[in-house]
Amino acid sequence: MAIPIKAYSMLEAVVGPENISEDPTMVDVYSFHFLAELQRKGTGTKFLPQRAGAAILPASMEEVQGILSVCNRFGLKSKAHSTAFGSWNAHSWDDVVVLDLRRMNRILEIDAKNMHAVVEPYVTWAQLQAETMKLGLTPSLAGVGCQTSPLANVTSGLGMGPFNISMGFNERSVLGVEWVLPDGELLRMGSVGSSAGWFCGDGPGPSLRGIMRGEYGNMGGLGVVTKCGIKLFDWPGPDRLPIEGTFPDLRFSKDITDKVKLFLITFKNRESRNKAVRLIGEAEIAYQMYAWGHGFLLAAVPELSHLIPRKPEDKMPSTDPVLAMTLASNSPAELKYQEKVLMEILRRTGGSLSDYLKIPGVDTTIFRYLTRPDYLFTCLARFASGWWITLFDFVGSPDSITEVQERAIDTMNRWEGKNILPGCADSYCQPMYEAAHVGYLDHSGGYYDVTDPDSRRGYTDMIMEINRPLVDANLIHPTIASNKANQRAGALMCNFHEWQKKIKAAFDPRSVSDGGYYIELD
Ligand SMILES: Cc1cc2nc3c(=O)[nH]c(=O)nc-3n(C[C@H](O)[C@H](O)[C@H](O)COP(=O)(O)OP(=O)(O)OC[C@H]3O[C@@H](n4cnc5c(N)ncnc54)[C@H](O)[C@@H]3O)c2cc1C
Repeated sequence: MAIPIKAYSMLEAVVGPENISEDPTMVDVYSFHFLAELQRKGTGTKFLPQRAGAAILPASMEEVQGILSVCNRFGLKSKAHSTAFGSWNAHSWDDVVVLDLRRMNRILEIDAKNMHAVVEPYVTWAQLQAETMKLGLTPSLAGVGCQTSPLANVTSGLGMGPFNISMGFNERSVLGVEWVLPDGELLRMGSVGSSAGWFCGDGPGPSLRGIMRGEYGNMGGLGVVTKCGIKLFDWPGPDRLPIEGTFPDLRFSKDITDKVKLFLITFKNRESRNKAVRLIGEAEIAYQMYAWGHGFLLAAVPELSHLIPRKPEDKMPSTDPVLAMTLASNSPAELKYQEKVLMEILRRTGGSLSDYLKIPGVDTTIFRYLTRPDYLFTCLARFASGWWITLFDFVGSPDSITEVQERAIDTMNRWEGKNILPGCADSYCQPMYEAAHVGYLDHSGGYYDVTDPDSRRGYTDMIMEINRPLVDANLIHPTIASNKANQRAGALMCNFHEWQKKIKAAFDPRSVSDGGYYIELD
C-alpha cells in the first residue's frame, strides 16, 4: 500500500513541505544499506528489497507525535533513525514512513554536579564526549563508534564498549526518557515524568525501563524516543583528547600517564587471560578494557597490519590473546597503587606487557579505540569491500565465551585467505562488564567482495558453518534483534518472544512501529 494522498498531505502539514519527501531519489537513500547485499532474499546490491514510502524530518517531540498520530490513523508503518549507522536501522517493509531525526541534534543540558546530560537523537557520542571532557566527565561510549547516537544506543539498541568494565553495559546509562509511544501519546519516564529532572529512569512506582529497553533495546519497534538523560562518569584526563595528526598517523600530543595509563598485555593462553580478567574485575581497578584476539589487533591497528601474512612463505602471526586496558585516576598515588595491583595480577597469571606499544603510533591508536572508539569505521570497515561480524553476538562468563571462541576459531581457520584475513581467525573483540564476570563477544576478521556473488555466498556459508553447530550445541542462540530470529531464539530461551508480543500488543496494537528488528504481532 503506497502512502495515501490524504495521509501524505497531513504529514506534510505536520513538518512543512520542505521536510518530507516521497521522491524516489530521496527515499531510496534510506534503502541504500550497509549489509543489504548479504540478505538471502535481497537484491544482491547495496539496496534493500523494501522501498520506504516517505522520508520525514521532524524537528520536535510534538512533530513526532503528529507523525505517529497520522500513521495510526492510516495504518502506516514508521521507523525511527538517529544517525542510522546500521544495520538495525533498515526498514523491513515497503512504504514505511522513515523518521530521520537529524534535525533534533541538540545537547540540551549537561549537569556536571549530578553527572548527567540530556540529549536529542542526532547528537553523537563524539560531540557529547567533547563537551563533557571539558568538565572532567565522559559518557560510556559504545564500541560501534563515536559517530553514532548515544540516545539510540542507550534507549533502543545494544550498549557494549570499552568503558563497560567501569561504567556498566549501556542499559545502565539511560536515565529519564521522553518517549512518544506508537499511538502518538507522550510518556515521560522516570524522574522527568514527575517534573523532577532527568536524573533517574525509574519510578515512581514500577519501572518501565525493562519494557522500553530490556537488555538489547527494541530497535525502533515501540515508538520514538525524542530526548533522554544519560549518565556521565569521571574523566581524569585533559579537557581535549590528547591526540594530534591525521589518521593513520596519530600521535599523543601530551603525556597523560599520571592520570590515564594504557596497557597492552599478552598471555600465553586464554585460560590465564581469563584468570587475569577475573582478578582485575574483582580488584575494580580497570577504567577501560577490551579482551582481543591477536588477529583483531592486526586487523584493526594499521601500524601492525604488516604482520598479516601476504605470501605463503610469510610467518604466521602470534595467536597469544591480548588485553587492552587503561587505569585512570585523578590521584597519581592511586594510579600507582592500581598499577602495582595490575603487575601483581600479571605476575600471578603469566601476563606480559607487549612490545607492540614501542612501535610509534600503536599506543595512540589503541588509546583512541578505547576512548573515542571508531575502529569499525577507520580500520575494520576500511576494507573497500564488504565486512561484517562472523559470530552471532554472545553474552556470557569469560570461560563460556572462551569455549565459544575456540570452536568458532577452529572453523574460521579453515576459511583463512578466503573470507577471513590470513592469520586472523582469532579476530574477536570482547568487552567485559559487571566486574568482568560478564562479557560480550563478536568476531571481526571476515570480509567479502560485494560485487562477487561467489564471495558473498562464501561469506554467508561460512557464517552458517561457524554458528549453526554452536546453536545446535545450545552454546549460543540464533542472533537476536530481528523479528524472525527473536521467534527462533525465544523458543530456546523461556519463550521471551511471547512476552515481547504481549508488550507489542499492549503498546502498539496497530503495529505502527516497524517491528522487523523487534517483534511483529501474528
Ligand atoms: C558494524 C556495527 C558494529 C556495532 N558495534 C556495536 C558495539 O560495539 N557496541 C554497541 O553498543 N553497538 C554496536 N552496534 C549497534 C549500534 O549500537 C547501533 O548501530 C548504534 O549505536 C546506534 O546508533 P545509530 O545512531 O547508528 O542508531 P540507528 O541506526 O539510527 O538506530 C539503531 C536502532 O535504534 C532505533 N532507533 C534509533 N533512534 C531511535 C529513536 N529516537 N527512538 C526509537 N528508536 C530509535 C532504530 O530504529 C534502529 O533499530 C554496531 C552496529 C554495527 C552496524
